[in-house]
Amino acid sequence: MSKLKDARMKLRGELEAPPALRQFGSGWISGVLGLVLGVAGLLLVLSLLAPGALAIPETETLRDSPWYRAAIHFTLISAFALSALSLVLRPDRTLGTCGVAVTLCAALIGGSQATAQVSGRMPLFFGVDFFVLNVLFTGFLFIPLERIFAHRNKQPIFREEWREDLFYYLVSSLMVQVLTFLTFLPAKSILGIAPLTGVRVWVVKLPIVMQFVVIMLLTDLVQYWVHRAFHRVPWLWKFHSVHHSARSMDWMAGARMHFLEILALRSTTVIPMYVLGFSTAPMNTYVFVVYLYSTFVHANLGWRFPVIEKILVTPRFHHWHHGIEEEAVDVNFSIHFPFLDRIFGTYHLPKDHWPSEYGLPGHPVPLGYLSQLKYPFRRKPKTSRT
Ligand SMILES: [Zn+2]
Ligand SMILES: [Zn+2]
Repeated sequence: MSKLKDARMKLRGELEAPPALRQFGSGWISGVLGLVLGVAGLLLVLSLLAPGALAIPETETLRDSPWYRAAIHFTLISAFALSALSLVLRPDRTLGTCGVAVTLCAALIGGSQATAQVSGRMPLFFGVDFFVLNVLFTGFLFIPLERIFAHRNKQPIFREEWREDLFYYLVSSLMVQVLTFLTFLPAKSILGIAPLTGVRVWVVKLPIVMQFVVIMLLTDLVQYWVHRAFHRVPWLWKFHSVHHSARSMDWMAGARMHFLEILALRSTTVIPMYVLGFSTAPMNTYVFVVYLYSTFVHANLGWRFPVIEKILVTPRFHHWHHGIEEEAVDVNFSIHFPFLDRIFGTYHLPKDHWPSEYGLPGHPVPLGYLSQLKYPFRRKPKTSRT
């Protein structure tokens, strides 16, 4: 057991290596990429072996495509080659060895040619493939941007508490079936009681672009007040303080949110979108846009958008929402449109500066997913925001 722990700590030490040991040519970049692609390949192969339990229905067409198999094959070949390169370049062989080991495991259980061992869909399934596609897509999109246009250019990819935030990604991706079902439950119940047929017929005839803009406005309005309630009502704040406990802002930080808060926030914000009867295309577009947008506003991006930041929420605007200082308390609740904060008196965007630090004074929220899950139910959480 202690050997396993030693190996885990050694791997973590390598991922969090100091800047001098991460330089180009040190074998760190190839080692990390090899390991990430190897783990991604292994998880995708597992989802091919048990698609009814480990893959989401939405990827079925993708899984039937020869291009998907070719992409998994290419991922595994790249993982092996990069890990081998790291073994050549890097005196410490931890990253390279782990990368080769997971890639070989993926090849041994069938690689890109793996076929389903159990047919049919399980009543409860986990989005293993969704997690991989989610992290690879978001990571490969935002990590290069954060390297080039960083607000904090000394913040490493594997910064403090990265494991917690990645675990949040994992849980919300794996539990996608449960989350989606519970998210739409209140909206479906409301629609059952009040069908609003006349309104729905009128809404569905609106131009698609207009429907999309209206969805953004309505969901942000609902999100604003739900979010504000999470700050103002003490027992709700216990849940939301988990999101505010993040001490680093980047593409992973937004994923940190208590499971019950995700449910509360999503199930209330979808109500206007679902009940008023918008078309499927603008609704699906909105879901994709909000997924990227919420990652973007947390990202470690130092971009200044002098004109745009007055109209749309930018990373600097939302970073102020996460600031540790007094002036950042209970400001900038919007996720899309800052004018809502202007109207309701919570707008705060100083001309030239950013928050000094992120998180909560005294950092009262414990580390670790399970501890944070239990945190709101503790008798006396030590935090108070207002
Ligand atoms: Zn908040
Ligand atoms: Zn946030």
